[in-house]
Amino acid sequence: MSKLAVEHNSVNLGQGFPDEEGPASMKQIASSAMDDFHNQYPSLLGVPELRQAVARHSAAQQGIPCDWATETLVTVGATEAIAAAMLGLINPGDECIMFDPMYDSYVSMARRAGAVIRPVRLALPDFSVPADELAAAFGPRTKLILVNTPHNPSGKVFTRSELELIASLCQQHDVIALCDEVYEHLVFNGAQHLSLRALPGMRDRAMRMGSAGKTFSFTAWKVGWVTGPAALMAPIVKAHQFLVFTVPSSLQRAVAHGLDNEPGFYQGLGASLAAKRALLEPKLEAMGLGVLPGHGAYFLVADVSKFLREGEDDAAFCKRLTVEAGVTLIPVNPPRHLVRFAYCKDDAKLEAACQRLGTYL
Ligand code: PMP
Ligand code: GLN
Repeated sequence: MSKLAVEHNSVNLGQGFPDEEGPASMKQIASSAMDDFHNQYPSLLGVPELRQAVARHSAAQQGIPCDWATETLVTVGATEAIAAAMLGLINPGDECIMFDPMYDSYVSMARRAGAVIRPVRLALPDFSVPADELAAAFGPRTKLILVNTPHNPSGKVFTRSELELIASLCQQHDVIALCDEVYEHLVFNGAQHLSLRALPGMRDRAMRMGSAGKTFSFTAWKVGWVTGPAALMAPIVKAHQFLVFTVPSSLQRAVAHGLDNEPGFYQGLGASLAAKRALLEPKLEAMGLGVLPGHGAYFLVADVSKFLREGEDDAAFCKRLTVEAGVTLIPVNPPRHLVRFAYCKDDAKLEAACQRLGTYL
């Protein structure tokens, strides 16, 4: 969709990256680290400063104590964390439970690792966890469940009771949880992020994944991290060794600085996103697009059923919109009648997109 957006010079609310950048102090540290000769392979696990900062962040934000020396790993973004975790933990034939719709890398990576995917469809309109279907998806071959909260693409923030249900099923069936929490700070309108790993009985069976790209609005930096019990970390570290070995140390140092010294930046992201959502939502509603509830991440999902032409699905609709209206969105798929707006963009861009959509629809 990004390529098509460029070709048609459309207003791109497709790919989820913010228009605003992160703290200047972090950019300064990244470049001075290069001048200070931090330009050779750092440790396989990550520089100690960042691993210590990640451990402190885990304790401070979610009350999850973390031994930086055995329970942290720095990765090339959360994308590599997901890949290394799946390659490290999944054996061929293992079943993995994933909620649909979901972020695009999960299925590909899990299949590559030999997994059998057990999808569980979140229930509309609020993308709630269907308790009976979830319970039915667990069985003797279930190895892991992927839990992404706040959720891409819906903006849903998993509730405590949903997480408690997942925690009890994981313990009942001896299942590992991979917790993709890259949007942990991007919550608003009263929602609170709770990590599955913070719940009783989950510390030894859950791995959390975070991203400096999302936490500091530096998505190009591709610095992420995993925290979790040492026993589960070992095979993930092995996979990381042979995927990428390590991560640029200048960027790691800058992220360590950010976690320790720029909490105000990530604590302010929720309010800024709430304001952008408040700008977009009524305009979309006025056009007849049904906006679904959401309290986190960069994304708003809208129902476009009444604008779909005969035989057209969400993907075809998004292509048509890019070409004919000059606005790029992302199909949610499944289901086939929802589209995702990434509204982490300049207000002027949001206004321009609404104007074009209003004229076209
Ligand atoms: N998980 C989710 C849910 C995401 O939306 C993203 C963003 N691409 C990632 C993981 C990957 O994050 P990173 O850019 O740190 O690799
Ligand atoms: N997480 C972002 C999104 O879902 C971007 C990720 C990507 O482009 N691979 O839009």
